[in-house]
Amino acid sequence: MTDSISPVWHPFTQHGLDEAVPLVERAEGALLHCRDGSTLIDGISSWWVITHGHCNPRITAAIRDQADRLDQLIFAGFTHEPAERVARGLIGLTDRHLPSPDPLTHVFFSDSGSTCVEVALKMALGYWHHRARAEGGTARHRIIVMEHSYHGDTIGTMSVGARGVFNRAYAPLLFDVTAIPCPVTGAEQACLDALEAACRAEEKPAALIVEPLVLGSGGMIFYSPAMLKAMADICAAHDVLFIADEVMTAWGRTGTLFACEQAGVTPDIVCTAKGLTGGSVPLAATIARRKIFDAHLSRDRADMFFHSSSFTANAICCAAAAANIAIWESEDVPTRIAALGERMQARIDRLAHHPAYEKPRRIGAIAAIDLRVGEGAGYLSDVAPTLRAFFLERGLLLRPLGNTVYVMPPYCITAEQIDRIFDAIEEAGRLFCG
Ligand SMILES: *Cc1c(COP(=O)(O)O)cnc(C)c1O
Repeated sequence: MTDSISPVWHPFTQHGLDEAVPLVERAEGALLHCRDGSTLIDGISSWWVITHGHCNPRITAAIRDQADRLDQLIFAGFTHEPAERVARGLIGLTDRHLPSPDPLTHVFFSDSGSTCVEVALKMALGYWHHRARAEGGTARHRIIVMEHSYHGDTIGTMSVGARGVFNRAYAPLLFDVTAIPCPVTGAEQACLDALEAACRAEEKPAALIVEPLVLGSGGMIFYSPAMLKAMADICAAHDVLFIADEVMTAWGRTGTLFACEQAGVTPDIVCTAKGLTGGSVPLAATIARRKIFDAHLSRDRADMFFHSSSFTANAICCAAAAANIAIWESEDVPTRIAALGERMQARIDRLAHHPAYEKPRRIGAIAAIDLRVGEGAGYLSDVAPTLRAFFLERGLLLRPLGNTVYVMPPYCITAEQIDRIFDAIEEAGRLFCG
């Protein structure tokens, strides 16, 4: 444990509660080794980023090799081989997994999930700005979003995400959006009707942004590929851009490389970050259709895409991403995920009739279940931190979202480690609800 005089200000942490902050020295596979000699099973992939496992040898070798060669390079007007390799790799993967007569053709690099979503929003607004100038119409600015969604913690991404305690202090600065219901079972038609109405509104929307198939931070809410497809079709019919925030869902998390491929949907813009480097180092990419790129193409510098961050396409991060893509191209990752999924399914099925739990659900390498609690058990209820501490005492890194307990492990986790996690979830059920 760290001592109380640490100057570190942690994210999503109330330092006034003096909760334990384990210091981790080393990690491998699904295990974290702490300074006090204890080990933890990383049941949430270190906040949804680690895919193949911590310190994957192929990825760390690529990082080491690249660090000796070229570390960081200005990316305006310069390029390097790792970035070229990742961009070609991403386009190759989207060609195969998200095929379309009008395919994704261009990759814009950035360094976090929030940033690649900001980039997607700016690309969409830039597209309509340039199109309005060319065609003499009015530019579109309105973004349609899904209730309960999460797209990041910057001002722009908070604006397109759910409003709540997380962003109340910043509410006056968040821009106005049109929210449609999440198409969970029973709300399908309400979602489609609201989307249709938003697309037909007098103020024409620029884009719809969604988390495909799974709303992560919203509480591991799942909806069907058919609904994803139906939403994309409505957008296409109304010439509204369809942005898929695959920051959490891509790289196999939902069982397929991209979640959108389960719906046969090719978005106009795809955002990817977290697992892009296998979760080892930060890198993000926003992948766009040709028409989005072409809208910014002219002989006039004023039309260029005005976005950059210092570490855009950092060479070491790109080398890690290239190694991740090579893993996907040479190893049978989907079979690994399917086996993990089956194991989690068997264990979550056992909880189906547990009196403490409800709504067991799983997609790919994500399993979730809700602890039955009274009304008002939102994110800030004591349930989540109490559970977190309960799991920590048992050597498990789990971080429930309110009363939703979920497991999202690295794909290399062993059956025995999965069992330890679910044994503890069963035990927690007995403890909390008798
Ligand atoms: C985590 C997440 C983000 C934000 O990514 P950061 O790298 O934390 O900025 C955006 N969208 C979704 C769906 C996410 O899960």
